[in-house]
Amino acid sequence: MNKGLIILIALVFISCNNKVVFVDSEHKVDSQQELMEPTEPKATEAWEPKPKVVTVHEDTKIPSDAIVLFNGENFSEWESSADASGVEWILNSDKSMTVKNKAGDIQTKRNFGDIQLHLEWKSSEKIKGKGQSRSNSGVFIQGRYEVQVLDNNNNETYVNGQVGSIYKQSIPLAQASSKIGHWNIYDIIYHAPVFSEAGDKTKAGTITVLHNGVLIQDHYKIKGSTAFIGWPKNTPHGKAPIKLQDHRDNSGVSYRNIWVREL
Ligand code: MG
Repeated sequence: MNKGLIILIALVFISCNNKVVFVDSEHKVDSQQELMEPTEPKATEAWEPKPKVVTVHEDTKIPSDAIVLFNGENFSEWESSADASGVEWILNSDKSMTVKNKAGDIQTKRNFGDIQLHLEWKSSEKIKGKGQSRSNSGVFIQGRYEVQVLDNNNNETYVNGQVGSIYKQSIPLAQASSKIGHWNIYDIIYHAPVFSEAGDKTKAGTITVLHNGVLIQDHYKIKGSTAFIGWPKNTPHGKAPIKLQDHRDNSGVSYRNIWVREL
């Protein structure tokens, strides 16, 4: 570890007689020793560690360190959730995919922990069904924490199950939906829960969601798995796939441009 980083990590601020004392483990500064308020700009500059360089593609806007999970070419990153067989969803000529009714959920072949996830989704252009039965799908982080996908345009449902909710746990801060049949963007930042060896959850997972650029989930502490019936459960788990839902009611939901950055 370089010197600058050690200093940065070790720097602790202690209030002492209304003055600030810098305690630095490397220099073993006595906790009682007071340092003068810096008078030079350089004294408070950090030059290490340097952030890695990530470039964003001019056309696709995909970051250079992202894993592309779906770009419209094929389902090579995906499998059936039921039996890991091939995906039967519909591959469209506009580089999107559409849920094939009753073909079942699909999930990534890769397992993920903490992530930044980008995806775009579109409700069915034809209005069919109401409430939870209108263009219902969902993004299940680690296969168990659902960010709801639903057409809520002039379509009421319980608010902790509406579009952008953490299903049956967290009401979104806003409804930022595109018009029916238009593309929506979800940008999700997720930190996985931590479990002890004994299987107890020692730290809650958190989720932040931007819907079309609007903050709708703000570092929400996930209570547990998002079930249709029952309370959240906290069965210990490690890295797991990202799952997309077939709600089995001919939702007609489509997805495109899915990429993920591991954090
Ligand atoms: Mg759903």
